[in-house]
Amino acid sequence: MSAKISALLNQLAPHIPEEQQPLLDQLREEVTQLITSKDNVAAEQSSIPVLDKKSGCYRKANNASHYCPQCFDNNQNLVATQRINSKLRVCPQCRESIKPTAKK
Ligand SMILES: [Zn+2]
Repeated sequence: MSAKISALLNQLAPHIPEEQQPLLDQLREEVTQLITSKDNVAAEQSSIPVLDKKSGCYRKANNASHYCPQCFDNNQNLVATQRINSKLRVCPQCRESIKPTAKK
C-alpha cells in the first residue's frame, strides 16, 4: 500500500469507535487490492512486444500470445496469430504466414 494512504488510515484509526474498526480494516484491504490490480494493468500496458526469433512473432514477457509482426509493424495492432504447426503460424487479420526467423 502507498505509504501516504497507510499513514492517513493510521491517523484516522484512533478517531473511529472500536466497534467500527473492522470497517477500517476492510477499507485497508480494498485499497490494497485496488492498488495491486492497477499496478498489474500498468505493467501489462507498458510491456513492449519483442520479436521472438523462435516463432517469428512479437511476444510480451508476461503472456503467452504470439502477435503478428506485419500487423504490429504496419499498424501497431497486436493480433494474436493462430498456430498451424511448430513452424507455421497464420494471422487471422492480414493472412500473413509467419515462420521462425532463427537460422540453424
Ligand atoms: Zn497480421
